[in-house]
Amino acid sequence: MNKTSQEPVTVSIAYGDGIGPEIMKAVLSILEASSANIKQDVVEMGEKSFLEGHNAGIPAETWKSIQTNKVLLKAPITTPQGGGYKSLNVTMRKTLGLYANIRPTLSYEPYVSSKHKNIDVVIVRENEEDLYAGIEHRQTTDVTQCLKLITRPGCERIVRYAFEYAKANGRKKVSCFSKDNIMKATDGLFHQVFNEIAPEYPEIETDHWIIDIATAKLANEPEKFDVIVTLNLYGDIISDVASEIAGSVGLCGSANIGKTTAMFEAIHGSAPDIAGQNIANPSGLLHAAIQMLNHIGQSESATTIHNAWLKTLEDGVHTADIYDPQLSQEKVGTQAFAEAVIARLGQQPEKLKAAHYQGSDLGSVIADYQRPHVKKELVGVDVFLDWAHSDPNAIGKQLEALNDTLVLKMITNRGVKVYPDGFPETFCTDHWRCRFISHEKEGVVTPQDIIQLLQRIDEAGLDFIKTEGLYRFDGVNGFSVAQGE
Ligand code: NAD
Repeated sequence: MNKTSQEPVTVSIAYGDGIGPEIMKAVLSILEASSANIKQDVVEMGEKSFLEGHNAGIPAETWKSIQTNKVLLKAPITTPQGGGYKSLNVTMRKTLGLYANIRPTLSYEPYVSSKHKNIDVVIVRENEEDLYAGIEHRQTTDVTQCLKLITRPGCERIVRYAFEYAKANGRKKVSCFSKDNIMKATDGLFHQVFNEIAPEYPEIETDHWIIDIATAKLANEPEKFDVIVTLNLYGDIISDVASEIAGSVGLCGSANIGKTTAMFEAIHGSAPDIAGQNIANPSGLLHAAIQMLNHIGQSESATTIHNAWLKTLEDGVHTADIYDPQLSQEKVGTQAFAEAVIARLGQQPEKLKAAHYQGSDLGSVIADYQRPHVKKELVGVDVFLDWAHSDPNAIGKQLEALNDTLVLKMITNRGVKVYPDGFPETFCTDHWRCRFISHEKEGVVTPQDIIQLLQRIDEAGLDFIKTEGLYRFDGVNGFSVAQGE
């Protein structure tokens, strides 16, 4: 296919920091030499923009360009040292609703040495929720907290995306990784949604793994896995594990996909230690660009470039990071590597599995979320106190004296029950969760009951720092029991 037979697509291009400009130049030279037909709209973001006072490193004109073009190819950026700067990537993903992070990882044995021969895993990471909501508070002298937010629409979108991705790409299995043996409400929801959606794809095999053993298995037997869908934090960690064992942190690209907009980038950072030396490997960003071409419907160009890149690897033309005198023929710099790929456009790899892209505009598969109708009842409240003493019985007795329509059920410290009948061995901080429920068995309470309780707590000279309402949804408790309750 030549350029003229494909509609040009305008793409926002960010050259980034550190090695960003040199690898972007190399990648764009390959795209320009190929049949890809993109118009470049170069935008500013990163270190310079941070230092100019843009809190997340993204000027207003850049937001406008991305909102107009809906596709961004981004080189890595440097987050300046020191506090006060918000993560550019997290801001970009959440502001633009880029809910799916897709990271394919492959090993290229025998041309690139790797811990395992047959790695071919795609990690589909939830990209907006989890601990990355960034809602953190210091609540007492001793205690800080970070809220882990998991939503039903967030789980539905990412799980469905993983299955649609598997279907569109001829993948056989989707594995769900979570820690729902501990986090029954949050990770439990993710696993439950996975179980609900899986039967819609009977042709795809499924399984579920607890994240700790799953990570160990991924590192030791990666061939067990095909497509993995997981929550944000676990996905962040396991995608680095997967790329590292494949021997290819410098080789992997990633796609951040939203309903209307998508961002493509290498998985590595701006590598300031090697910036400006023409030795960086442009392959990670090239893979991101290949994912982008597939996304915008230029899949034939994506296939041609990927296969030329595979042939370059097979021919032993390697950048310094993967150069191995036993395996490589020639050590080349960034731009010379790009020229080697250009020279092989139209060629196929001989041993490595050739790529064949077919387009995957999966942003549109996401159905609008239908919020279910549920009956929600207020049945109690957890009141958190800052109390700098150590005897749970003393605070327990003081609170029981305040019982009215709401009565003290128990007190926990860091989630472990310490009153009534706590263990003297349990270490206590200054952060006490005091659970109050209706004085009637399984009764409901009103917000007014809670306000009056807080009034009594305040008048007793106790420092309440926050409350969490205890709700029943369709008759099922929406809160965890304490450890030891
Ligand atoms: P890094 O990924 O930049 O570098 C880690 C190591 O890998 C370095 O030794 C580096 O030389 C090497 N390396 C990375 N990419 C390479 C390539 N293409 N070719 C050859 N070698 C390569 O990680 P870091 O040093 O922890 O972070 C540096 C900066 O990058 C920080 O400011 C960080 O915030 C930023 N960062 C940005 C992104 C992003 O923009 N998506 C991601 C991660 C880190």
